[in-house]
Amino acid sequence: MEFVKKSLGQNFLIDKNIIKKIINSVQIKQKNIIEIGPGRGALTNEIIKRNPKSLLLIEKDNKLSKALEEQFKKDKKINIINQDILKFDFKKIKRKSIIFGNLPYNISSQILVKIIKLKKLSSNYSDIIFMFQKELGEKIIANYPSRNYGRISILSSYKLNTINKFYISSNCFIPKPKVQSMVIHFRPKKKIKYKFRNIENLEKITNIFFSNKRKMIKKNLRKLLNKEKIESISNLNFNLRPEAVSPEFFYKITNLYES
Ligand code: SAM
Repeated sequence: MEFVKKSLGQNFLIDKNIIKKIINSVQIKQKNIIEIGPGRGALTNEIIKRNPKSLLLIEKDNKLSKALEEQFKKDKKINIINQDILKFDFKKIKRKSIIFGNLPYNISSQILVKIIKLKKLSSNYSDIIFMFQKELGEKIIANYPSRNYGRISILSSYKLNTINKFYISSNCFIPKPKVQSMVIHFRPKKKIKYKFRNIENLEKITNIFFSNKRKMIKKNLRKLLNKEKIESISNLNFNLRPEAVSPEFFYKITNLYES
């Protein structure tokens, strides 16, 4: 298929049942919907059938974006933005929305992190339904202690609850990807126990701990916090490796680091 841009992670969904299953994750009628990477409209058309209040499509590919413009120009409630989602300013969104995306696999973790970092996530977004490569999906929802648990699991569970997940065979796409995919339905957490001055500090701290997963946490703790702060942490075995430490502790460490 010569029209497919591999560099933009284009694997188009063709399985009607799977498309419906994804879209049926939430009630769409009279809701504001955002779709990241609508491509050739596989999910888009199914969203429209369910009568959303508004639909915003953000597609980087110029040709696909033009084709969508052409297809939907008569429908006033559909807006198409031809832009890189990583450059899109979410402050422009003024209505509480649901976000869908069969994400381009090469930047899917960056997209998720961008969403997680949005301020007032739970007041502005009710549901987020994303498709990832299975391997990344497993990391996102991983619990501790496990091999998959790490930076992205801790960051995701800081702001998001996982409501549902399901796997999708590579046969459901054109072109067929090499690996299975996974859909995850998230809902932003309403109450966040640990507040950070800057969520980037949580990213920084998890990067430090997980860049060497075999190191016991006490080594990196000493680099980040003074003795007094370390002593204030109770119920933590400092000889553990990061993959055996709960997200809560990384949140606590970030709090102490910022204080
Ligand atoms: N939604 C369609 C489907 O399910 O068949 C297409 C999904 S395809 C995996 C990913 C889509 O994201 C492609 O249409 C691609 O052009 C678009 N895309 C890639 N990088 C993007 C970016 N940085 N910003 C916005 N869209 C992007």
